[in-house]
Amino acid sequence: MIRGSLYGKLALALFVLLAALGVIYVGLMVASTRLYLQEVNQSLNRELAASIAAEERLIRDNQVNRAALTELFDVLMVVNPAIELYLIDADGRIIGHAAPPEKVVRDRVEIEPIRRFIDEAGDLPIFGDDPRDPSRRKIFSAAPLLYEGRTEGFLYVVLAGENYDSFVELYRTSQILRVFVWIGGVSIALALIAGLVSFNWLTRRLRRLAHMMDTLRRSNFREVPGDVAWPNRRGGDEIDRLGATFEEMSGRIVEQMDALRDADESRRDMVANISHDLRTPLAALQGYIDTLLIKDPALSPEERQRYLEMASKSSMRVGDLIADLFELARLESDQTSAQKEPCALNELVQDVAGKFSLAAEERDIGLRFDIPERAPFVSADVGLIERALENLIDNALKFTGPGGAISLSVEAKDGAVETRVSDTGRGIPEQHLPRIFDRFHRTEDTPEDGRRGTGLGLAIVKRIIDLHGGTLQVASAVGKGTTFRFSLPIADIG
Ligand code: ADP
Repeated sequence: MIRGSLYGKLALALFVLLAALGVIYVGLMVASTRLYLQEVNQSLNRELAASIAAEERLIRDNQVNRAALTELFDVLMVVNPAIELYLIDADGRIIGHAAPPEKVVRDRVEIEPIRRFIDEAGDLPIFGDDPRDPSRRKIFSAAPLLYEGRTEGFLYVVLAGENYDSFVELYRTSQILRVFVWIGGVSIALALIAGLVSFNWLTRRLRRLAHMMDTLRRSNFREVPGDVAWPNRRGGDEIDRLGATFEEMSGRIVEQMDALRDADESRRDMVANISHDLRTPLAALQGYIDTLLIKDPALSPEERQRYLEMASKSSMRVGDLIADLFELARLESDQTSAQKEPCALNELVQDVAGKFSLAAEERDIGLRFDIPERAPFVSADVGLIERALENLIDNALKFTGPGGAISLSVEAKDGAVETRVSDTGRGIPEQHLPRIFDRFHRTEDTPEDGRRGTGLGLAIVKRIIDLHGGTLQVASAVGKGTTFRFSLPIADIG
């Protein structure tokens, strides 16, 4: 879990970085401590070679004074076994020493560092050749050997002791280094802890974001992740912005997915409804035609007429359903937008109602108007609004019994014009009201005229009003009547 996480990776990177830093720090400390100790050692012994040289005449007339040399070496071996003495001539050739001969592998040493030491030119430590090991450079003390004012050669004292070659050796002997290594170790450990704590704090929100994403994916885009809203929605850092945006985005995705699922479900419902609604009149049509075909000779002219009329009615019903479906599909397709123009609703309502006056009279239903002489224009597609009014008035007629009444009114109200179609018919049961504008939704009632509708009329009305940016409402009481009202915004005609 930790290994694959961002926090794990950051922690590992920090650890490696600090470890590398630690190694570099210790390396630098060791190198500088070693250099410091060598400097101290060399400067303490600066006069060593000179004082030895002052005691003895080690070279005379280019001849090494062997006896003096041997005596001197013996004494020094006892006093300080860590130093090695060499006699060298003016060119750097080794002309005398007290070491076993197989140990001295060089026959000459570089003269330049020796001169620099004697002339006190350059900072200490100054390194010179080690006659016993050609690969090493060592600190030394040196002094010229003078005879009658001439430099005959040099006394070259290699300060071989305190040769801190390994870290362990140096660490064991140097108190300063031990303190520095401890300080370094504790600082690195503290930096590691501080780093881990701050990484944990920084990655916490990323972990939350990752968890939200996992939840969304696991729920198959059904569930908006996160039980609490993302904190710091505004003014936060990049991660906060990411979190807030993802939260918003996931909300949208879930909404869209729900809408897609709903659309899919309603499409399936619609196909089922269409096939059912088509099958019934088609089966009836087929039945009447079959009867006519089979029984034709035995049928009286009246019976034949009746069968033909019923076949025609069934066929008209199929035609109506297809026309309504086609209309709704056209209105719902995105390309359709209303062709709006300024339109006077008071006149339009009166015109449409006129088409129904005969049918209303035949069924003994009164038509009442409450329409002002003048009303503000609305911006509307006249053809579509006409269709909506027809559907509403047709429904009112269908569901109102003889002796009832239908009232039509137009009224300017709050920047809009409201049109009402009320009837004193049977009303719509309350449980149907919320879904009354859905496609194919019908109450179980058969209309007064016996014509069962398609269940698409109100869906078409709703779509038309939506296309105009208007509102459509229904109020109904069973046994008392129903009122449909729609509002359209007043046209802005300057
Ligand atoms: P239909 O073609 O069946 O009339 P609609 O979508 O126009 O389809 O109406 C849906 C249903 O709403 C109708 O079947 C009816 O049950 C109910 N309805 C619509 N208008 C009225 C009304 N004025 N009075 C009573 N019921 C109504």
